[in-house]
Amino acid sequence: MKILVAVKRVADPNVKVRVRSDGNGVDLTNIKMTINPFCEIAVEAAVRLKEQGLASDVVVVSCGPTPSQDALRTALAMGADRAILVHTEAELQPLAIAKLLKSIVAKEAPDLILLGKQAIDDDSNQTGQMLAALLDRPQATYASSISLKDGRLSVTRETDDGTETAQMTLPAVVTADLRLNEPRYVTLPNLMKAKKKPLDVVQASELGVDIDPHYRTIAVSEPPEKKGGEIVADVNTLLSRLRSDSTLI
Ligand code: AMP
Repeated sequence: MKILVAVKRVADPNVKVRVRSDGNGVDLTNIKMTINPFCEIAVEAAVRLKEQGLASDVVVVSCGPTPSQDALRTALAMGADRAILVHTEAELQPLAIAKLLKSIVAKEAPDLILLGKQAIDDDSNQTGQMLAALLDRPQATYASSISLKDGRLSVTRETDDGTETAQMTLPAVVTADLRLNEPRYVTLPNLMKAKKKPLDVVQASELGVDIDPHYRTIAVSEPPEKKGGEIVADVNTLLSRLRSDSTLI
């Protein structure tokens, strides 16, 4: 079984990004970048399926500029076998990424396609769903557990009301949620070894896909400053304060 995992390079969640002076986006100059945490969970899930003997080949793919290779190298160091960079310097919106991934799926014919539930930079939470729709394949979003038996995939999903378990045929699209696993630590020797693993570069312009943006960001602003906290005497005081001041809730 072949698994394709889509990974995105994003600003490290531990660094504070600032809004650009033109108010049209965030300033990523000299900002530490990393693999999107939910993509890391998706890679870990794929590598574990391989370690259990349920998958033979784990291919990771990223769409974006050349430095996106860093996220691919991290995934290779975690245990993926092969990487593909779909290279473009253009701004990519989720529909464009889903279309690019669809053409990679057409070439690679994976049995399972894993993505993160969302990229923590734009918080779009759209690419997996769009890809499943474009491919006309079953999808399970927010996966907290995945198992494979007799060629059928069973996925437990996190929902607002608890969990839900869905069974589906392959090929299928699954997006990883936080509780799916705890990704392994990437060691330096494994990073060095990952440099020897194959990483192919495909030009997005050669895939015959319309990747033009369909919406425009009008304005980006900093979140409102947090007001200082206050210690109240007891629970009853807290409740009466919450009842009387709706801005506290
Ligand atoms: P989003 O819909 O942007 O929140 O992203 C959801 C998931 O789609 C991510 O966790 C990745 O698995 C995948 N994805 C988003 N952007 C890219 C990209 N540029 N290249 C590859 N995969 C991506």
